[in-house]
Amino acid sequence: MSTHLRDIVQDERTHEALLAAATPATTRILERALNREELSVEDGVHLLSVEGDDLRALIRTADVVRQEDVGDEVTYIVNRNINWTNICFVGCQFCAFAVHRKDPSAYNHSVDDVLVKVQDAIDRGATEVCMQGGINPELGGLFYRDLLIAIKEKHPTLHVHAFSPMEIMYGARRAEMSYREFLSTLRDAGLGTIPGTAAEILDDDVREILSHKKVDVETWVDIVTTAHELGLRSSSTVMYGHIETPQQVAAHLVLLRDIQKRTGGFTEFVPLRFIHTFTQLFKRGLVQPPPSGENDFRMYAFSRLMLRGWIDNLQTSWVKLGAELSQLTLMAGCNDFGGTLMEESISKSAGADAGEYLPAETIRELILDIGRIPVQRNTTYGRIEEQELAASDGIGGRSGSGAIPARPVAAH
Ligand code: SF4
Repeated sequence: MSTHLRDIVQDERTHEALLAAATPATTRILERALNREELSVEDGVHLLSVEGDDLRALIRTADVVRQEDVGDEVTYIVNRNINWTNICFVGCQFCAFAVHRKDPSAYNHSVDDVLVKVQDAIDRGATEVCMQGGINPELGGLFYRDLLIAIKEKHPTLHVHAFSPMEIMYGARRAEMSYREFLSTLRDAGLGTIPGTAAEILDDDVREILSHKKVDVETWVDIVTTAHELGLRSSSTVMYGHIETPQQVAAHLVLLRDIQKRTGGFTEFVPLRFIHTFTQLFKRGLVQPPPSGENDFRMYAFSRLMLRGWIDNLQTSWVKLGAELSQLTLMAGCNDFGGTLMEESISKSAGADAGEYLPAETIRELILDIGRIPVQRNTTYGRIEEQELAASDGIGGRSGSGAIPARPVAAH
């Protein structure tokens, strides 16, 4: 890791000195965030352009706000990803994971295959399995329900975090159900929470270029808010570093913040850097490789300030950034290190080289190394105490009821 990047997040100057060194326009916005005033799209656009001393002041302010709002603990989860099929007809231009069903690398794991992976996750101490797959036209809509039933029959206390809004849209249409009926069916079959993926940038002009068959903004919002209303909480995400503008990113965060005001259903926000190498977007020359380092710090710090008071948990993505850079983002506003994953196909297919598994011990060491406190959590940010782990052999069921808190602030 370059010493330059370390120097940016560990600038020896005080916060006051950094604010004094920044331009007045930036300092004014940062001081408003420190005073818990809500930042606008225009404020966000400004923050997404800062460099030099302004960037350093933004990063330190995000770190101060993180410390004030959630303290020095850094949470992580022991989980396993299961990408159960890579067959998909949607054709997203940023995706190198999906293949045609006749491709030699195509796979579609059976329910029994998935159960073997779930058992492996439990044997390795996982409290959650995270399942997402391609949109395989050969699967009926009720496959999603039946997969849940099979898992929960064997492992009733395991938390299943699964099915993106795109999968929910497809499944509901194939099952000829409304989103509410379909989500209720999945919840009753044992679904715990849903990933707030398939969001990319919530702007239909961008989505038309990235993937014109993908769930549109109105439908994404409809599915996510309906899930929240049914007690199914979700994460929230942004994918940055491709064709988006600062205006679109800032508006994306304001939209997520507005949803959180209405439902309180988001558990966390996860900025995901676009991985370009093997994607059509890159091969067709529509994007440049996204810059790494300062741009990631800017995005995480900006997110901490834009979402202040509404989404407290900001998760770094070691799969996208690598473990070392992710460690540095903990000093740019993040308070969650994500999961151990154990298996990861989507970013790897696009060219990410961070690996598929980060053992909990390594995550703890990375957190301790910067003087913070590692805490194992469940999916909905409840603490997992050591005695609790010992009593349950590391198996899940500590993920809370999935109920949405009365106060629309992400729980811990
Ligand atoms: S991102 Fe998802 S929906 Fe889009 S092509 Fe890839 S697997 Fe299919």
